[in-house]
Amino acid sequence: MKIIDAHTHIDYITCDIQPDVVGAVCCATMESDWKKIVDLIDKDKRVYGAFGVHPWFVDSVEQGFDVRMENLLKTDSNYMVGEIGLDKHKPNMEKQIEIFKIQFDMAIKLNRSVCLHCVGAWDKIFYILKQYNKLDLPTIVAHDFNENVDVLKQLLKYENIFFSIGKNALYDRNNRIEQIPNDKLLVETDGKKEVVLKDVLLKIAQIKNDENILNIIYENTLKVLNHGQIA
Ligand SMILES: [Zn+2]
Repeated sequence: MKIIDAHTHIDYITCDIQPDVVGAVCCATMESDWKKIVDLIDKDKRVYGAFGVHPWFVDSVEQGFDVRMENLLKTDSNYMVGEIGLDKHKPNMEKQIEIFKIQFDMAIKLNRSVCLHCVGAWDKIFYILKQYNKLDLPTIVAHDFNENVDVLKQLLKYENIFFSIGKNALYDRNNRIEQIPNDKLLVETDGKKEVVLKDVLLKIAQIKNDENILNIIYENTLKVLNHGQIA
């Protein structure tokens, strides 16, 4: 079994800890994470980086962050953009939208995959997505996805969308996993120690009644990491 954690954070690098995990996408939440993640990637080739500012931390943004972020992204074409998004449970939605758009535009400009955090703000995300030509949109990973079927259907209209599943797989109250196409599924811990990726994958294989899903999910993750071009 080969597993890549599609979404973790700096304090929980899965490939060091969980069996069968051969890679991990380490998502920044604020600018102070960026250097730590770069150092980690330099030391450990199994670690992939996503750089950005999380919607919970838009107040941490300092002047010129966008220039510094773009310069950093340009140093390595494998660097992704994330964790970025919108969260209705957190304050300052106007600023969240402003910061999200700056980073999303950057992902498009530099052709990078995006790790997306969206809680209760899909209407706003769809509104933003509609402002772009579909063909220009980047690869998007909707992280910790557990939304209603209407949101899923709308998202599936976009070709380069993936859904990463973590702790919700273990309950899957909404039967969401069944409805996500196999070639769109990824797995993640989101830095949570209680989420054992092997268990998540076995649960997904059971729901899908397909052992081959484990390989498919691995290949899906490579697609995200390589922007659609598997080397
Ligand atoms: Zn996260």
